[in-house]
Amino acid sequence: MTKQTAHSLRADYLAGTQKPTEVVAKSLETIGEQNDALNVFLDVYESAAQQAAAAEELLAKDGESAPPLAGIPVALKHNIMVEGERVTAASKILENYTATYDATIVNKLKVAGAVLLGGTNMDEFAMGGSTENSAFSPSKNPIDPTRVPGGSSGGSAAAVAMGSVPVAIGTDTGGSIRQPASYCGVVGFKPTYGAVSRYGLIAMGSSLDQAGPLTNTVADAELVHSVMAGRDPMDMTTIDVDTYPAVETKETYRIGVPRDFLAEGVDPDVLEAFEAHLKDLSAAGHEVVDISLPLFAKGLAAYYIVMPAEVSSNLARYDGLRYGTQTPGETLLDVYEQSRAHGFGDEVKRRVLLGTYVLSAGYYDAYYGKAEAVRRLMRQELANVFTDVDVLATPTAPTPAFTFGAQADPLAMYRQDIFTVPVNLTGVPAISTPMATVDRDGSTLPVGVQYIAPHAGESRLFDLGKRIYDAQL
Ligand code: GLN
Repeated sequence: MTKQTAHSLRADYLAGTQKPTEVVAKSLETIGEQNDALNVFLDVYESAAQQAAAAEELLAKDGESAPPLAGIPVALKHNIMVEGERVTAASKILENYTATYDATIVNKLKVAGAVLLGGTNMDEFAMGGSTENSAFSPSKNPIDPTRVPGGSSGGSAAAVAMGSVPVAIGTDTGGSIRQPASYCGVVGFKPTYGAVSRYGLIAMGSSLDQAGPLTNTVADAELVHSVMAGRDPMDMTTIDVDTYPAVETKETYRIGVPRDFLAEGVDPDVLEAFEAHLKDLSAAGHEVVDISLPLFAKGLAAYYIVMPAEVSSNLARYDGLRYGTQTPGETLLDVYEQSRAHGFGDEVKRRVLLGTYVLSAGYYDAYYGKAEAVRRLMRQELANVFTDVDVLATPTAPTPAFTFGAQADPLAMYRQDIFTVPVNLTGVPAISTPMATVDRDGSTLPVGVQYIAPHAGESRLFDLGKRIYDAQL
């Protein structure tokens, strides 16, 4: 079965063989049939059919000049604000919270004609790698419902994998777009830090967060990213990637493999699939070389200090007064304590506590200061490596999708992020595309490869991804 993509739908719309209202009706039907079992959508927007009708009108007037995503159904992670729609970050504390404005990326998607279909499940406040931390029950992996879809953007990955939408938007602070993409057999793209505005996203780690697409093809990821990217006066960390010194595309790429980094804890089947993929890259004319990135192995340790530090400060605003649900108490302090005690789940509490600790007087230098120093050195190390190679390749995650409860130990869960967090710490772009399947207990499970490019080098990832992945679809 060829999968529906934003590109194929556009072609159909222009040829008149399909219409947005029909496509959106089909999307809603798929959700209706499967959502009870998979728990992928937390909300379906009532305006979906109306949006589809509006897009249909645009296309009917002059299809060629209709905006690039006219009539394309798009699902949004539940930490992205759409004015008038509920946005919960899958937390009890925001269970009944309605967004009061559009995120910049939502505004851009609307201008591009996208039909915003609904909000997808996730780990609470994007903390986790399985959706098991959702306050509203986990999502299930459409490929094998006994397994997690990954996370934290697990609902967005599953929404694409279950065939309900060709495009879903996720956010990635330490791998939350790429890892679920790997588990669900879809494409997931994390842009250069600052390429996409964070205005209107519920913040997790502000120096790490980026929003990006989950799609069936690299070409679609490129298209959707081009719609969402750009400088935004509402987010002073945004940059215009196009104004950066060009990271040019090439006929063939010199691809670096951080071997020392692959030594430990990677599932043997994933490693075998990765080695086979490297052979394919060589066969396609690229040069695959071993490189050394000793500091990347410290990425996890640095991430699990920097990220909770930022989490503890970003989540201070959920005090039971300003946003969301309030649990009553005798005194003001009581209200704070009770609202947070009842409103937050265990993982969120763990990270707020950790973050508060590493920022506290007396420990700041030993933990936060040191982690930021490691981060700076990682950036230097990476910049050096990129004077030699064009792109890096790693498995996206060390295992295929696991069964519910299999990574109940938080440290085991954190180890899933080993290949993805260095990318966020250094701010560079990365993409995950499916590379193979592995057999596990009678299921055939997808696993992804991650390509990493230099700062502002997104075009290289799209070029390589289209040539290697899209070309064989
Ligand atoms: N799994 C990672 C974590 O739990 C990544 C989360 C994310 O990217 N939002 O922090």
